[in-house]
Amino acid sequence: MMPTLTGRNTRTITGYVITLLDYPRYVIEREVDFTDCHLKGDFDEHDSQCTSCLFGEACCWLNLNRTPPRPDASLTELLQALSTAVKYIRSTRQDESPHPGHCECDRCQWLHEAMGFLRTRRHRA
Ligand SMILES: [Zn+2]
Repeated sequence: MMPTLTGRNTRTITGYVITLLDYPRYVIEREVDFTDCHLKGDFDEHDSQCTSCLFGEACCWLNLNRTPPRPDASLTELLQALSTAVKYIRSTRQDESPHPGHCECDRCQWLHEAMGFLRTRRHRA
């Protein structure tokens, strides 16, 4: 056990994930359409309209991540939020025209970074 080293690493990784979560928050806030929402975007997991909603997953995410996570948020929570965000960003990327493998748009760049990070975490676990 090396508490000092572990603590420092965790803080750094946590800070990094918190930074990574800025982009999907911005995108989801801009893209999810609450015009027809009977709850005005206030996600309710027990509401059948919410669970079957086209924006349900993104809306649920946004309700959990509308404000930046506290610096003391657990890494597990942050990684969960990050992988859900990756799923959303991936699923919506094809909306416009297909992106080439080396695409340099914000979405692809973010996905590349976030997925690369999640992959390194998985190998370590
Ligand atoms: Zn792209």
